[in-house]
Amino acid sequence: MARIVMKFGGTSVGDIARIQNVARKVKAEVDRGNQVAVTVSAMSGVTNQLVDYCTQMSPLHDAREYDAVVATGEQVTSGLLAIALQELGVNARSWQGWQIPIITDDAHGKARIVDIKGEELIRRMERGEVPVVAGFQGVGPDNRTATLGRGGSDTTAVALAAGLKADRCDIYTDVDGVYTTDPRIVKTAKKLNKITYEEMLEMASLGAKVLQTRSVEMAMKHRVRVQVLSSFSDAPGTLVCDEDEIVEKELVSGIAYSRDEAKITLVSVSDQPGVAAGIFGPLADANINVDMIVQNVSRDGTTDLTFTVGKADLDRALNVIKEKLHVPYKTIMADKNVVKVSVIGVGMRSHAGVAQTMFKTLADKGINIQVISTSEIKVSVLIAEDYTELALRALHTAYNLDAA
Ligand code: ADP
Ligand code: ASP
Ligand code: MG
Repeated sequence: MARIVMKFGGTSVGDIARIQNVARKVKAEVDRGNQVAVTVSAMSGVTNQLVDYCTQMSPLHDAREYDAVVATGEQVTSGLLAIALQELGVNARSWQGWQIPIITDDAHGKARIVDIKGEELIRRMERGEVPVVAGFQGVGPDNRTATLGRGGSDTTAVALAAGLKADRCDIYTDVDGVYTTDPRIVKTAKKLNKITYEEMLEMASLGAKVLQTRSVEMAMKHRVRVQVLSSFSDAPGTLVCDEDEIVEKELVSGIAYSRDEAKITLVSVSDQPGVAAGIFGPLADANINVDMIVQNVSRDGTTDLTFTVGKADLDRALNVIKEKLHVPYKTIMADKNVVKVSVIGVGMRSHAGVAQTMFKTLADKGINIQVISTSEIKVSVLIAEDYTELALRALHTAYNLDAA
């Protein structure tokens, strides 16, 4: 007998028939003699709709009320799945974040889970009850519902698995695992049987939305065995695990992309000590994350400085630069039509040439690289957004990742 957390994403609970399908999958695990806790997302499209309502009501709405609104999607699906399970004769009960409680910090809209009081759920699971937990939500120190950031039900699932000391955390979604790149864009993408925590963390944080980044961080920290699989088939999925569990290691495991960044260039900034601090300090004070940075060679004592910020932060960043910067510059340029493409693989630690293959492949397709950044296990480049698909396909082939 095992204790399992099963998580079902938005598409998997997208309508009544799909929720009934999920109920059958849960019942099958229960019938195998396992203790099961389930967590669900809102029906697909619902969270977007709720976010849009808030924005229509006021573009700068209160984050506590945003949470009050957007957390409702998961309340609906947890109740509906509990009913569907009861219809199949499974003893199920829905739970909202505050009822367990799943305790978060006070960062409304992107809260972090601090603790889960799992004792009551464990007691009930031991009696054969199946808790159906609303994903994406918890309760903050102000005793109000807090949500965990978009895609946060993955984090609910992994945190529950850690808190309930589960043997496995199964993340059911609309693809049957983690692929070498987004299978919706590159048809030849290959399913990975296993991927390391570290690579999955990079893939997620560099744009592969199949798992929320924080869920991978949490899985890595608590060594939760996470499996990504499809709720629409019985195909085996992808196991996220330690490096030593993977026998055949590829040089590059995956390619991710993110359209969430925007590029800012400050033209003719003076090239002297303190300038970078004078630019990035005010941005940090305004809570704006800067990702990639490149500074050009200095001409006549001035240089151009290019960096990226989140697309959603672009207008604020431009305001901060115009109003708060004491560093002189000639002009600012901003570009939203960019994409960050990254190749990821632990094999890079011990092999040279990965970056060169990337640069050559893009050059052969006539794609200009605007900014580069690297870390031990990834290389990222910023290119024009129009080339996203072309670049992904070409790189996928160049690193021999295409399915046979
Ligand atoms: P859910 O609603 O189940 O949480 P998501 O839409 O959040 O599902 O995540 C699944 C989607 O992630 C897939 O439909 C796929 O398009 C996308 N995706 C992006 N990169 C990858 C990848 N490397 N492997 C698998 N899926 C990916
Ligand atoms: N429903 C939330 C969202 O769409 C959380 C999730 O699906 O993981 O972001
Ligand atoms: Mg998701």
